Amino acid sequence: AKSSGKNQYELYHHEMHKNESKIMQMEVLLRKAIENDEFFLVYHPQVDMKSKQIVGVEALVRWKQKELGIVSPGEFIPLAEETGLIIPISEWVIKKACEDILNIHLKGYSNMYVSINISALHFNHDSFFRSIEAIFDQVNVDPRAVEFELTESMIMPNASETIGKLVKLKKLGIKLSIDDFGTGYSSLSYLNRFPLDTLKIDKSFIGKLGIYQDDSSIVEAIISIAHRLNLKIVAEGVENKKQMDFLSRENCDRIQGFYITKPIPYPELLNFLENWDEDLLN
Ligand code: C2E
Ligand code: CA
Ligand code: CA
Ligand code: CA
Repeated sequence: AKSSGKNQYELYHHEMHKNESKIMQMEVLLRKAIENDEFFLVYHPQVDMKSKQIVGVEALVRWKQKELGIVSPGEFIPLAEETGLIIPISEWVIKKACEDILNIHLKGYSNMYVSINISALHFNHDSFFRSIEAIFDQVNVDPRAVEFELTESMIMPNASETIGKLVKLKKLGIKLSIDDFGTGYSSLSYLNRFPLDTLKIDKSFIGKLGIYQDDSSIVEAIISIAHRLNLKIVAEGVENKKQMDFLSRENCDRIQGFYITKPIPYPELLNFLENWDEDLLN
């Protein structure tokens, strides 16, 4: 028993080092990825429930690594946040998304917006506002066509400090959305203290719609709170017609999900917009 204890310790130690070096390898790869421009964006359309038109897209980052293939953000954003590498990545994402939506406007879809996920670390970094201003100086996009997605955990802890930052972004014309709504801090009192435009109901609620003991009453309640506060409501993770029809009946403003399409790269997005037929939703 004594020796097996020792072996277990060594095994554990070995595993730990293996994990550590794996993380360090990833960090090296991530640094190279920034130098070599290995990131790209995919876009996930949002459909307006009244007009049945594509009114905007959410930008989602991907990493194309020679050996690893396409790495999803769930796998590298946490490491990027830990190492601070998220800041150049986030700046790249915001700039690229602004350039792409400008080009979409120039193709004739002049009312479309892009919604961009903002990293907590970037948002809280001293350089944040400066880097946003620099991007809007460089890219001639109308800031009103740009929405930032923030999470409850980003804005709640230092509420009064955050309000100031959000007001500055609003003055530039940027729209503000709360992502994953319903999963974070459950305090509702902040909703009308922050200058918000949109709430995104988390997909965990949408996924349960129509299933035994579903979350339909929570979804109904969130939609009605949003509307009372003059906020638009977006449901993400819509995967079937039943979920869409429920959300439409409940006056959800917009939907996003695999039922419409998987997220697609820019060239395919142009194709998708050109071939969009609202009758596909009937
Ligand atoms: P999120 O912001 O909640 O984004 C929604 C995620 O749900 C996306 O995953 C999207 O592909 C997925 N999704 C949307 N509709 C459906 C559906 O109908 N069914 C299913 N099963 N999934 C659906 P993705 O692209 O892997 O992104 C994961 C998370 O990574 C995002 O969650 C966001 O928190 C983060 N992320 C993505 N792109 C960026 C970025 O550019 N910057 C930052 N800071 N974070 C990002
Ligand atoms: Ca999001
Ligand atoms: Ca989400
Ligand atoms: Ca999220």
